[in-house]
Amino acid sequence: MNDPRIRHVVIVGGGTAGWMTAALLSQALGSQVQIRLVESSEIGIVGVGEATIPQIRHVSKFLGIDEDELLKASRGTIKLAVQFNDWRRIGDTYLHAFSDVGLPLGLAGFQHYWLRDLQERTSDASAGAASRRGNSVPDLWAYSINAQAANLNRFARMDKVGDSPLTGIRYAYHFDAARFGQLLRRHAEQRGVVRTEGKVVDVALREIDGFIESIRLESGETVAGDLFIDCSGFRGLLIEGALKTGYDSWQHWLPCDRAVVIASEHGDTIRPYTQASAQKAGWQWRIPLQHLDSNGHVYCSRHVSDDEATATLLSHLEGPALDEPRQLRFHTGMRKNVWNRNCIAMGLASGFIEPLESTSIHLMQSAVGRLLTMFPDKNFDPSLVAEYNRQTRFEYERTRDFIALHYHATERDDTEFWRQCATMELPEGLAHRIELFRQSGHIFRDGEELFTPMGWLQVMIGQGIQPVRYHPLADGLSQVQLDGFLTDIRTLVERAVATMPEHAEFIARHFKADS
Ligand SMILES: Cc1cc2nc3c(=O)[nH]c(=O)nc-3n(C[C@H](O)[C@H](O)[C@H](O)COP(=O)(O)OP(=O)(O)OC[C@H]3O[C@@H](n4cnc5c(N)ncnc54)[C@H](O)[C@@H]3O)c2cc1C
Repeated sequence: MNDPRIRHVVIVGGGTAGWMTAALLSQALGSQVQIRLVESSEIGIVGVGEATIPQIRHVSKFLGIDEDELLKASRGTIKLAVQFNDWRRIGDTYLHAFSDVGLPLGLAGFQHYWLRDLQERTSDASAGAASRRGNSVPDLWAYSINAQAANLNRFARMDKVGDSPLTGIRYAYHFDAARFGQLLRRHAEQRGVVRTEGKVVDVALREIDGFIESIRLESGETVAGDLFIDCSGFRGLLIEGALKTGYDSWQHWLPCDRAVVIASEHGDTIRPYTQASAQKAGWQWRIPLQHLDSNGHVYCSRHVSDDEATATLLSHLEGPALDEPRQLRFHTGMRKNVWNRNCIAMGLASGFIEPLESTSIHLMQSAVGRLLTMFPDKNFDPSLVAEYNRQTRFEYERTRDFIALHYHATERDDTEFWRQCATMELPEGLAHRIELFRQSGHIFRDGEELFTPMGWLQVMIGQGIQPVRYHPLADGLSQVQLDGFLTDIRTLVERAVATMPEHAEFIARHFKADS
């Protein structure tokens, strides 16, 4: 009887996606499958991707790699938040911090109590009455430990805030993606993954059903397999080149299509957060690594030329440039099916939601987790494939909506680009979410979507979407109780942050790279 089990997995591509897939599959499946990874150093990798989200920490845990070792090897730093500058309007700034904001009380989310406080203070002020609680209005971020630590450039690992019910610091990494990839490669090779250097020049499909039978390398060698994982980057060599799966464009919601990147010397501080500063037709990132800043200007080529974009990038560096500007092109969207026949696309081959919230590395990690959960046999049951595609599409689309929110909810009208973003037609679900929040202050997590209500809350408030009502339960507290509740949280957060060392000092103590 033919053995239906998958024995041979072939991964095409050795960027972050390829080596992440190889490391996680080999760790989980051990000797049950043989994994072969084919990559071409002549073609190379995209080689950007320095910022992550907190789920990245599951990768090191799963692989058993010590976090300090990982950060030392990849010249990493800590990321507590993304700071958005000039997005709502020029001069405005807010954080999307990873920790919780405040504490829910009973059935009402924290934002309802904060909104009541804000509305009462604002109406006091507009009635000309001296505020009963002092003049300054504590903003939402006064209740976020990550935001307060980020503002003071401090960091410590802290799961809880003292003995209180407040959750502590939630962090991700900034790292050198190429070094991170090498770490994953070592891990995978130690677990039996075989790497082949070579360029794929042809893909052979089975006549009977169009499944991939083998790939042919420039050297003439043929590599056969049961399951093929396409990690070949934007070109999607197998999923598109061979299988013609099709691509859904999201450019009407995520209009940027190019980036120009450069490394520069540090300014004075190593900030524990990414900076994302809006420009005339896009935005610019600054990501602090231990030895340099990574910078990139993501822009829309219909509104700004490559030369202008490069000039913008160079004029916003904090220190001298360390290399030459490098251009990249991309098309936001995703494959119609990321799993087609016996081929699954991961990483850039599967689609691209631009890097504003640093989600690409997470989406590949999540895709491998999904594959492990639904690992097929050689029958490639269509219902399993359909479920994998459904879950992946859901995750990509909700993530896309979150990014589109940043572009759309703006008061900027200084360029054609921002005017178009502000007036664009939204995906239906996103329009509903914004309206729901505006009318009631409610945010509900949609199934297993990536970003939590805490993330949506900060971006909606940060972009200027102000609810007109809050949950009636928030009126259940007396004024004194409300003041006490809010003041206690702020005080606990402040005290906890005061115990933390400077971010640079923490790095020096725990994972300073040798050179
Ligand atoms: C401007 C920009 C900024 C980004 N910033 C972030 C960020 O901050 N955070 C984040 O999480 N992600 C970010 N990303 C995404 C991140 O760069 C990618 O997710 C990551 O690099 C993984 O890429 P990949 O492995 O899918 O593809 P690639 O890096 O392109 O690797 C493709 C691989 O396929 C191989 N290959 C291609 N064709 C062939 C062939 N014919 N034969 C053999 N091998 C072949 C190549 O040699 C290479 O090894 C960013 C992306 C861009 C464009």
